[in-house]
Amino acid sequence: MSTIAAISTAQAAGGIGIVRISGENALSVANQIFKTVSDIDLKTLSGYRAAFGHVIFDGKPIDEGIATVFRAPKSYTGEDVVEISCHGGLYITKQVLRAALQNGARPAEAGEFTKRAFLNGKLDLTKAEAVMQLISAQGAQSSAAALGVLEGSLSREITTVSNRLKSVCAALAAWVDYPDEEIDDLSDDSIRDVLNRSIAVLQNLLSRFDSGQAVLAGVDTAIVGKPNVGKSTLMNRFVGAEKSIVTDIAGTTRDIVEETATVGNVVLRLSDTAGLRETGDAVEKIGVARARKKVENAVLVLAVFDGSAPLTAEDRDLIALCNGKKSVAVVNKTDKVCTIEPELLDTAFNKVVYISAKENQGIDALESAIEETLGTADFDPSAATLMNERQFACCTAALDSLSEAKNALEIGLTRDAIEVSMDAAIEHLDVLTGERATESVVNEIFSQFCVGK
Ligand code: GDP
Repeated sequence: MSTIAAISTAQAAGGIGIVRISGENALSVANQIFKTVSDIDLKTLSGYRAAFGHVIFDGKPIDEGIATVFRAPKSYTGEDVVEISCHGGLYITKQVLRAALQNGARPAEAGEFTKRAFLNGKLDLTKAEAVMQLISAQGAQSSAAALGVLEGSLSREITTVSNRLKSVCAALAAWVDYPDEEIDDLSDDSIRDVLNRSIAVLQNLLSRFDSGQAVLAGVDTAIVGKPNVGKSTLMNRFVGAEKSIVTDIAGTTRDIVEETATVGNVVLRLSDTAGLRETGDAVEKIGVARARKKVENAVLVLAVFDGSAPLTAEDRDLIALCNGKKSVAVVNKTDKVCTIEPELLDTAFNKVVYISAKENQGIDALESAIEETLGTADFDPSAATLMNERQFACCTAALDSLSEAKNALEIGLTRDAIEVSMDAAIEHLDVLTGERATESVVNEIFSQFCVGK
């Protein structure tokens, strides 16, 4: 495979920048652009050795740094790798990369180092996807979950199920293919036991998907309510900055303001929307339509009500809009006399929280309610977690096939029919781990990585 090079650290001023070179000629490329102070040929270094020296470009030293040598297969990619640590910064790292490219390396594509690691059997697809998740993690729980998957929590769980199914299928196939041999048929009970255990594992993984996604990818959250109930004030409480415009004139938040805030383990992508009310103002009308859309698209809705006034028709519209959504009713302005009737809210929402956004009261209770609604309060990052829609789809398809197999067993279909469905389940699980993923799936996954990873 060709030798590739890329800047692997962030492209910004920094203490250290790393240019990574990987492939058959990594050592000779590095040796041409890096002269060690003790004049050692990098090609003679064994793995995990480092040498201090200068990076040479166009015959001149351009920086001093350290070259670290990794020998195949004991490297990130499984190939020979040299990492040149130079001074961080946009110019220097680019010059070091140029030197490598002028001396026989080609620019690495997005995710190509990790793709090579996958193709060389260093990690499976779930682990490769965890690398990407780890890089983009925004909190302790999401990075812990990504690290768990990188270290094999998900592959172990999937492979255990898959291996169990494979051994049943092998026994079924032997019995079907060699009817004259004295091979014991598996009892219905033993097949049922394996199916039930496998189904339980997959169901458990799928049931944790939403809370896992909330922790890993953040949650699109809409703050909605009629004008002047305190949406912008609440948003500013979360974000801690005066981003939305707060005024006494109803309808001032005309557009959607987006911000992120961390609530417990979760990053909320908050949008403060135009108030929900019928309006003659053309600009505001567009805003109201967008707010409705935002509720439809949001994963979590914070429906804000003014506690110091009775519910209005607009409030009732909002309550109806939240039906079937993950939502929390937020009754604001508790510093004033409470005149709202809570009965309707109590029946329509799982959680009703009383706050004063202005006085900063009740925000902790609101945060707890959000975590409980999202199921992230007791999220266990050490448990196997499906990291994305692709894995979720594979797991769902495998579960469907296992349910078919179970059904075939229960209604007394032939061993053949049971085996076909179990084989289908195994295939979906193998696609999940990458053991059987097609080239286009693999290319698609790695194209989402950044260059240098
Ligand atoms: P929005 O139109 O829903 O975004 O409402 P704003 O956040 O702009 O607030 C409208 C008005 O209500 C402003 O005058 C706020 O200061 C006031 N307000 C917001 N929250 C509270 C609260 O908890 N208590 C009281 N008394 N007033 C509040």
